[in-house]
Amino acid sequence: MQKIILIRFGEIFLKGKNRGYFERLLQENIQKTLAEIPHTFQKMPSRFVLSDFSEFDMDVIIEKLKKVSGIHSFSVADIVESDMDQIFHAALSQARETGTFKVETNRADKTFPYISTEISRRIGGRLLSERKGLKVDVHAPDFVLNIDVRENGKTFVYTDAIKGVGGMPTGSSGRGMLLLSGGIDSPVAGYMLAKRGMRLDAIHFHSFPYTGEAAKQKVLDLSKIVAEYSGGVNLFVVSFTEIQEAIHEKCPEEMMITMMRRFMMRIAERLAKGRGDSAIITGENLGQVASQTVESITSSNSVVTMPVFRPLIAFDKLEIIEVAQKIGSYETSILPYEDCCTVFLPKYPLIKPRMDKVLAAEARLDVEGLINSAMEKIERYTF
Ligand code: ATP
Ligand code: MG
Repeated sequence: MQKIILIRFGEIFLKGKNRGYFERLLQENIQKTLAEIPHTFQKMPSRFVLSDFSEFDMDVIIEKLKKVSGIHSFSVADIVESDMDQIFHAALSQARETGTFKVETNRADKTFPYISTEISRRIGGRLLSERKGLKVDVHAPDFVLNIDVRENGKTFVYTDAIKGVGGMPTGSSGRGMLLLSGGIDSPVAGYMLAKRGMRLDAIHFHSFPYTGEAAKQKVLDLSKIVAEYSGGVNLFVVSFTEIQEAIHEKCPEEMMITMMRRFMMRIAERLAKGRGDSAIITGENLGQVASQTVESITSSNSVVTMPVFRPLIAFDKLEIIEVAQKIGSYETSILPYEDCCTVFLPKYPLIKPRMDKVLAAEARLDVEGLINSAMEKIERYTF
């Protein structure tokens, strides 16, 4: 029996006249991620069908499809000739050994001799007499057996749907610049915007020699994980040491983080504009730490004009961890390497920085000169 994969796309439906564009984008993204795996790709109304792949590739295909944004769900189906015996044998191989079930049939081929309820009734009946552990429950079955009689003389038979990422196809919402630390939050923030169709650039501030190679490697690894959901990531690593030393030397100790954040945002925006990106993305979360109060966010936000997306602003830490575990970034994020923000960390960081004091402290620095110097030594990695 030949296996195929049926791919459903959720929200793209809502897009009216642009539907064709979103569908094409999703098709391109799926074909790109499966480029190395021989298969046939077919478009059908409101779904895609993959066929002619080796069963040995099935697990890899499933893992890859789970990361393509815009896919609502997909199912591995048996494809047989539209013939009641063949349909029954496929149903038997798909059905569980025990439990409750119902059969749902869709008959696109109106020349097929039975109407859909009759197909369900006959196949369900044969399953019941063949497998004594099965029972019918039309309200809350353990599994649904789907039969889809297509117009071309073929029938698809399948049970479970595998959940996709959902959201919108990558590339349908421009590109954002993600401030990527080595922590738990920012990779999740990147994933969330990728899920909404944004391509991603990422910027990481690194404080060599205060932070080492392992800390940087961790960020490269995180970029690679996020890249699987965003169809690639361009990572820019910026040396932050000179800026941190200047702040440390010239500004009040408790303003360290406030000042650092303002530099990070300015540099991120400058790089983003140069690359034609349309937004900045951070993993900030209201009230989590001193630098994430409304006042602190106001201070760092006021140095940029680009929209700043903070998809995690209202999440609880546990909710963020749940997503980090789901996307596979958590284990890497919790590796214990120094982050640039832990270098020169003040004992009592300002929780509510006052703008007049922030500006007065900043006036002691050559802001433009420090930014230009940082922009000169940017390393680039592509995933
Ligand atoms: P994360 O888990 O993402 O590190 P966090 O809870 O540790 O977040 P902060 O360290 O206050 O919070 O950082 C807030 C946000 O600032 C991060 O989510 C990230 O977007 C950005 N950020 C912090 N440090 C860096 C860095 N070294 N390079 C780039 N961006 C950073
Ligand atoms: Mg952090």
